[in-house]
Amino acid sequence: MELKKPSSMDECLYFTNRSLDNEGYAVAWVYRKECPKCKKGRLGKPIKKDGKADKKAVVYECPKCKYQEPNDKVESELKVEVEYQCPYCSFGGRATTEYKRNNFEGVPAYVFECGKCGKKIGITKKLKKTKK
Ligand SMILES: [Zn+2]
Ligand SMILES: [Zn+2]
Repeated sequence: MELKKPSSMDECLYFTNRSLDNEGYAVAWVYRKECPKCKKGRLGKPIKKDGKADKKAVVYECPKCKYQEPNDKVESELKVEVEYQCPYCSFGGRATTEYKRNNFEGVPAYVFECGKCGKKIGITKKLKKTKK
């Protein structure tokens, strides 16, 4: 399967760029789901009155036609796409995994397997850094 890197952050619900051990790395992203109704918008969290996305909302909403779908339905269809260099065997490849954090060495993470050595690689939740 061919993965396409997002050209704009607006297309993504999630994007991260990580350094791993031994010069490995992982770039991971999740595309927003295309609206099944109007096919013009991409579903995201509804926008609150103050202009920010309502992260606690139980639905995703199309910004164009306001069509809504529940979180569970949307999130079960989304995939995390990863471009990586394996920290164990240095293999460079691409992978996909479910949009759901699983336990990885005691930490919630998106977990995928190296296509060459089969070792599991986790993309853990990023710790908040202080702003510059
Ligand atoms: Zn729509
Ligand atoms: Zn590997």
